[in-house]
Amino acid sequence: MLGRVYYNDKGDPERISGTAIDVTTQIVARQKLHEEQQHAQLLLNSIPAIAWTNEPNGEVNFYNQRWYDYTGLTFEETKAWGWREVIHPDDLQYNLETYAEILSGETGGSFEVREKNADGLYRWHLVNIEPIKDGAGKIVQWIGTATDIQRLKELEKQKDEFISIASHELKTPLTSVKAFNQMMLRTDDQKTLIGLASRSNDHIRRLEKLIKDLLDVSRITSGKLNYDMQDVDIEKILTESIESIQITTQKHRIILNSCDKITFQGDPNRLEQVMNNLLNNAIKYSPQGGDITVACSLDDSGIVVSVTDEGIGIEKQHLHKLFDRYYRIDNTAMRFSGLGLGLYITSEIIKRHNGSMWIESEYGKGSIFSFRLPILQTDKVEVDVDDHFRDASITISYDAVRHWVICVWHGYQNIVTVKRSCLRLLAMATKFKVTKILADNTFVEGSWTDATDWVGKEFYPLMDTAGIRQLAWVHSKSAFSQLAAERTIDMVVGAVVTKFFDSVRSAEIWLER
Ligand code: ADP
Repeated sequence: MLGRVYYNDKGDPERISGTAIDVTTQIVARQKLHEEQQHAQLLLNSIPAIAWTNEPNGEVNFYNQRWYDYTGLTFEETKAWGWREVIHPDDLQYNLETYAEILSGETGGSFEVREKNADGLYRWHLVNIEPIKDGAGKIVQWIGTATDIQRLKELEKQKDEFISIASHELKTPLTSVKAFNQMMLRTDDQKTLIGLASRSNDHIRRLEKLIKDLLDVSRITSGKLNYDMQDVDIEKILTESIESIQITTQKHRIILNSCDKITFQGDPNRLEQVMNNLLNNAIKYSPQGGDITVACSLDDSGIVVSVTDEGIGIEKQHLHKLFDRYYRIDNTAMRFSGLGLGLYITSEIIKRHNGSMWIESEYGKGSIFSFRLPILQTDKVEVDVDDHFRDASITISYDAVRHWVICVWHGYQNIVTVKRSCLRLLAMATKFKVTKILADNTFVEGSWTDATDWVGKEFYPLMDTAGIRQLAWVHSKSAFSQLAAERTIDMVVGAVVTKFFDSVRSAEIWLER
């Protein structure tokens, strides 16, 4: 029998004994395993999810970089069983039991759990654990991954809530129609009959609107909402919409501020639907009545239409979510009445016209819903030299002294201008091999309802791959834009660290550190 000391991958000595052949075979096997482990660790560092490896007994012996970026913790703090610190207290027991169950088996498994990030916020993750076996089929290690599924969880919850809301919203007018019909059957009086029929009709109209919204949403998601693009007179659309909505209310006065004669390419029916939605909301959310003002103006790059009401207003934290499907505000000022689809449909229609939408509001005082429809193409390149680029949406320049790229956004943005500008910005950052970007949004006036997802889900991974590590984001003055920006960052997974600033100077200080 021979005895040899072998140093494992942590540098700890291990005694191996047996015949000379046994010892050599075992050492070769262990070295092979060690090499495989190193290879696996290298691979794990390149994936966008959190990943680790653990011993058969459950102790973690390696984390990829994503774990440190996400938790803000060190290996010493989280090795072995230290990761328990990151798990939501309500999920810990379940996590430990499921983990033990998986490790006692042969095939691996998965479960969902909330993990705390460096800012102390918990996000849902899907944990998946797979065994690594040696040549003899013995489990020598486990590889674990944790994928961020927070957004998916939120959507799932929204969907469940939506089903219960939709059932309720559809049932309410139907119950009223039934009641009015029964009352009609019991009366012979012509005047009473007319009154009941008219009230029944109001509820049928409400049902009709709900069903129409549902159908539109399903057409939007399947890409089948048809548009009939033609020359459109914007003033005509505004006037017709105002006239048809004004007759539904006596408590409100809808005023059209002067509107230039502007013709552009669009779908008149869909644009009237946009105006009807905005005006109906302005009425619905101004229960005390008051003036509703429609304004229309033409600037350098398009038509801007706004609807201002003197209603209940909207609290800041809801602003950027209102264009989401199913989003409604549960507030004490008003009972719910709707499916939370109107603004989603409205913003989708504007998006299909290459426009953008935004909201300004003061809680308790009223709201302004605006949209912009582009007339002139904004992609005219004015300057394009090696280290400086400028068009109507953005100015990008390379700061050779501080070795970062600075980009200044201008005016209103939509998915087209955002995509084009971001890719141009990335090209310059890659060319000069910078790791830092200063994004100055001070001059952004209206926000990017449709570009938010693209930036979070597609542009951030591109920046990550290009080696960008710090992005200093100087906020626009618009509260809506600020919230939209923060929402973008919520979706981001990866190594690009983003911080928000109110001034360019404070952003520079952070980047200079
Ligand atoms: P709904 O059809 O349920 O009204 P919308 O998508 O049109 O759905 O609106 C979503 C939410 O936005 C509403 O639940 C409401 O709280 C808020 N909202 C919309 N328009 C206004 C407005 N003019 N003033 C205040 N709140 C509004």
